[in-house]
Parts: sequence; C-alpha cells; structure tokens
Amino acid sequence: MSRLTTIAKHLAFGALMSACSFGVFAEAPPISDKQKKNAEALIQKALDSDLGFEIVESLTTEIGPRLGGSEAEKRARDWGVKLGQKLGFDRVGIEEFTMPFWDRGHLHIAMTAPYQQPLYGTALGGAAPTKTQIDADVVYFRDIHALTDIQDGALKGKIAFVDGDAMVKSQTGAGYSQANQRRRVGWQHAQRGGARALVVRSVGSDSHRFPHSGMMSSDDGEWAEIPVIAISNPDADHLRRLHQLGKTLSLSLHSESKWEGEVDSGNVILDLIGSEKPEEIVLIGGHLDSWDLGTGAVDDGAGIAITTAAAALIASLPERPKRTIRVVMFGAEEVGLLGAFAYAKQHENDLSNHVLATESDFGAQTIWQIVSNVNPEATALVDEIAKILSPLGIVRGGSDVAGGGPDIIPLAAKGVPTIRLNQNGHDYFDLHHTPDDTLDKIDPDELAQNIAAYAASIYLLADSAVELKKN
Ligand code: ZN
Ligand code: ZN
Repeated sequence: MSRLTTIAKHLAFGALMSACSFGVFAEAPPISDKQKKNAEALIQKALDSDLGFEIVESLTTEIGPRLGGSEAEKRARDWGVKLGQKLGFDRVGIEEFTMPFWDRGHLHIAMTAPYQQPLYGTALGGAAPTKTQIDADVVYFRDIHALTDIQDGALKGKIAFVDGDAMVKSQTGAGYSQANQRRRVGWQHAQRGGARALVVRSVGSDSHRFPHSGMMSSDDGEWAEIPVIAISNPDADHLRRLHQLGKTLSLSLHSESKWEGEVDSGNVILDLIGSEKPEEIVLIGGHLDSWDLGTGAVDDGAGIAITTAAAALIASLPERPKRTIRVVMFGAEEVGLLGAFAYAKQHENDLSNHVLATESDFGAQTIWQIVSNVNPEATALVDEIAKILSPLGIVRGGSDVAGGGPDIIPLAAKGVPTIRLNQNGHDYFDLHHTPDDTLDKIDPDELAQNIAAYAASIYLLADSAVELKKN
C-alpha cells in the first residue's frame, strides 16, 4: 500500500471516528481546537526563544554557586524576585524559613602509603571536621554491604574506605539510589565501628578526577561525628588496585567542614493568576540552591530556567489560563529538601487546592517521556497532551508512576497529583554535584525543547475543563 493511500485511509478512519464521537459520545474532547492551537504556538515560540538559556546564564554567572542557607542563596532569591517582576508574573514573593547551615570548608586528602599521592576529594554534606590532621591506615570495603556487617568497635583508629562501582550511564539514571547508600548511610556504620574517618567512592558515572558531593542522611536527627569524604572514581579505582596487590594503604586528611547554626532561607514564588479558578494551583519549579563546587547549571539552574521560561511564555498569551500557574524556586533542596518541607507545611491548609505539581531537576538534556499520577479523567487528558508533545520526540509513559521530582515528594505524600516530564539523564551523573556542573554543559537547543514541552503541557493542564482535583 502506498504511503498516500495509507494516509487517505487514516484520514477516512479519523473522519468516521469523529462522526461517531459526535453522534454517539457527546462529550467534549479534553483539549479544544483553540487550546491545541495555543499549545502548538507555545511549542514553536519556545523553540525559537533564547529566554531559558538567558535565565540559566544569568543565574550561574551573576550569582554563581548557591549553597543552601548561604549569603549567595539569599542573593539568588532576590535575583528570582527581580526576574519574576521583569517577566510579568502577577504575584511575586518569598516565603522564608530557617535551617541549620553546613559549610564545606577546606579539605586536604592524600595517600601516604604505599607511597605519596594526592587524592581528589570533597567533604559530604553533614560531615564533621577533623579535630587534628588524621594519619591512619585504611580498612578496605568492596561495597556498602561489606561495611554494614562490621562489628562495633572493629575499626578503631582506622580510616574506612568504601569502594563500589562507577554508575552505569543511562537514560533514566537507574542505579543512583542504590549507589547513593554509601554516601547516605555509610557513616553510621563506620562511626559504629569506631573509624576515625570514612572515605567513599563518589556516586557518579564519569571517569574524571572530580569528586561528587551530596548530602548524607541523618540518623534520627543526629549527624556524623566523623569526617566523611568522597573521592573521584579514578582515585577509588587506584586504591582498589593497590588493595588487590595486597598493599597496606594509609591516608592523611584534614577537613574543616562543619555545622554553623541556624540561618534564613526561603522559597521564591511566582504566580500567574488563573482567570476562572484562581484558587486552583498548578505548581511547577526547580531548586534555586546548588552545591558549591560548580555553578549549579544542570543541577538545578536548568530546572529554574525551564519552568520560569515556560510560565513566562504562557504569560505572553492573550488570556491567562483558567487555573493559577505557580513557579516555585525551592530553597535548600540539596541539603535535605528543606524548602520543599517548608512549603508543604506553610501551605498545609491549602494543599487540596494544589491540583497538580511537577519539578524539573534532572539536568538539561531533552525530555523523552511524560508520565503521570493523576485522576482517571485527567489521565485521558495527559494521553492527549502526549500526542501534542510527540513532534518533540516525547512518548507517553505509564500512569500512576510519576513521583513529580524531589521537591514534590512532600506534596505527593499528601495526595497532590503529579506529572513528570522525564529528561534524558545519560550525562547527568557525569556532572552531578561536581566542579564540572557549569553552564557550558547545557545545549541551548535541548534546553528549548524542555521549555516547549513544559509550556505546552502546563498550559493545557492549567486551562483544561477536565477536573484535576482528586476526589
Ligand atoms: Zn537537584
Ligand atoms: Zn543535586
């Protein structure tokens, strides 16, 4: 069958189907012709626009690294407010909260036996300082499971080193939460074993000598009393080979990282007020804070740029969508989702009006999939949205599977419906929390594809006649 014949048959079938749907099913389609036209125009406009790249360029260049609770994070909030005003949001403000501040400080780490060699490491978030310089032999653990079995006190006077493997690069970032265990809870076992310090292989997929930072987990509100350091993948490989040769390893380390008391942080809120249901909120956002080794371009300057630019494009339509679109620039995400928990608490009486939430926090590569966790009626709407996004190379993924993103966790836990526009994460864990997370890693065209997808889908959801509220 020729291609033209196929298309003709397809059209005839389509005409028959729409005749049926008017004749038999009188319900309006979930997306009107006007909404479809607006969504397609938003996609085109986003692909032609430099706005998103300009936003992330401005944030990473004019503000730079933005550790949660730092003075730089405060400058970033002021930057976010000014940006929201300039882009024509209807309501712009900051919701403040307080938090404990952890500062990285200076670190020196080197191998001293079987010979002298510098290592590239960084303290993990929440780690204690060394009281004096630590010089000690290493006890090698092939992975976190080996350390978990340690007897109390068995590591007295030693430095524990937890190896593992470099992450395998993948579209979905699979394997992160497992690899992350040595970073998150390794200290609890090393400390129980009496180790003077814990050193872990970085959680990342790169083969550069950059360490990956990241937060540890507290143990019922208690933080590590020992220094905890992540070293680069090649350095971990090196220690492993020497261990396999039967060599005794010694390290020397000095770290100044420490907790420094309560400070102010906050979430920046930018609203486009809905024209018919202003009380109903479609929440999108990213996190404004970053780790301090790079400039937080892919994590998460990109998410701030994508969601702010998408909302700004929707603001340029002649009419506001029916529901309020709220961009939240969350504070202090990296150090424990503190802005997210503060938001959920400050809005606890209003959460039933949050009809949808999603965050962009997985870099700046293209979106390949849309997933959802919404009402059955809204699931059909997301199916239709996926068709409008398909020219961008986006496919529909499962329903009932969207987590919404890290800062959405406290909202989703309270029943707020979520979608997620899943980005290709192939290169994400090469850069994640390293000094290499800088603006040059963002491809402006890939960023624009993200903005196109957000602008179209968020407009359609916010403007839809379909009930988004959970019953
Ligand atoms: Zn992030
Ligand atoms: Zn991060």
